[in-house]
Amino acid sequence: MSDDPGRESDREPSMNISGGAEGGGIAAEFDPATADTRAEEVVDRLGELYWEKTYGGQDAFTCLVRTILSQNTSDKASQPAHDALIDRYGGSASQRDADSASGQPRADGVDLAESLANAERSELAETISGAGLYNQKSETLIDTADWVLEAFGSAAAFDAFVKDEEPSTVRDTLLEVRGVGPKTADCVLLFAGGRGGVFPVDTHVHRIYRRLGIAPADADHEGVRAVLERDVPAAKCGFAHTATIQFGREYCTARKPACLEDPDACPMGDLCDQVGVYPETDEVVDPAEAPEAGE
Ligand code: SF4
Repeated sequence: MSDDPGRESDREPSMNISGGAEGGGIAAEFDPATADTRAEEVVDRLGELYWEKTYGGQDAFTCLVRTILSQNTSDKASQPAHDALIDRYGGSASQRDADSASGQPRADGVDLAESLANAERSELAETISGAGLYNQKSETLIDTADWVLEAFGSAAAFDAFVKDEEPSTVRDTLLEVRGVGPKTADCVLLFAGGRGGVFPVDTHVHRIYRRLGIAPADADHEGVRAVLERDVPAAKCGFAHTATIQFGREYCTARKPACLEDPDACPMGDLCDQVGVYPETDEVVDPAEAPEAGE
């Protein structure tokens, strides 16, 4: 996902992108007054700012495909590519993405892993061209489909594995696949498995919790994830991931955080250490490069 320099970016989606509690996800309550840690207080405040989500219920292989397509690009660019892929290569009823733009039934009974494993690479690349890096992503998708068929036999069996196995086993297994990094593995666990306690760290999450001073300024993605999964209750991690991204687009953007111009413009102002953000000089640096990071 890309950092947006402005604050006028995409709004929160108008519908819940998961199957919610009915799909195995967890509903959470948000009350900043009862938070045990500063991280939880931030998340509870996000719960007041944005609507509450629950997670789980997406088909695991479709979710994996969706996350691979979204790597290094915006949701705006990857969503049409995802819809075009599903329209062309099908998927059974359970594999239809809940937030597909068309919402139309597609090629029922076709196993998406099987049809992608048999896809002609250049045709697949052309289908997903809107998502960027389409040559690389088409290879990754075909390799991933091959892996799912070899290891599990079908997309449906892979889905059962993601939903039923221990999260750490699922995570380690996914990380063995070429092109699947920690964020992709965590998104599959969260959106498909509906697993509590999984806090995927993307560029927004990585930046914001280090600026807030909740994670060490020099922490890498895994370091930030460890702090958040320790300090945020399991049931709130899924919501917190997506709400933080939205907050990063609207308030704490990479180059122009809201507090730069107006100290009262950010709803997290009183909870934030502003590591690497200097309203006096209008400067912003990565928290790892801030002088206070070494203190
Ligand atoms: S106070 Fe500034 S740096 Fe802190 S979260 Fe808000 S916008 Fe980001």
